[in-house]
Amino acid sequence: MNNHYLLEEGQQEAAIEAFRVAHEAHAPEVEVQRGTWSIYCHCKHCGEIHTYEVENEARERALGLPPWQEEEEEEDKEEALFNLVRGR
Ligand SMILES: [Zn+2]
Repeated sequence: MNNHYLLEEGQQEAAIEAFRVAHEAHAPEVEVQRGTWSIYCHCKHCGEIHTYEVENEARERALGLPPWQEEEEEEDKEEALFNLVRGR
């Protein structure tokens, strides 16, 4: 059995978890390989292979989104530095 699924960005962990739970009894025979945008899950006991791939659209969204958190941190640092310089 070979199943291929499309995922939204951020669903990778849930997909791996779901596969692990489904094959909990065969945990020693479960092989999981995780790439940036794709996951390969194989249960040797069942001969079942599930492959997951992040949708193209979701990939583009993930790549296109600005890193808000980091930018804010940068701004905070700059502001702190500015205040420090101004305070002198
Ligand atoms: Zn299994």
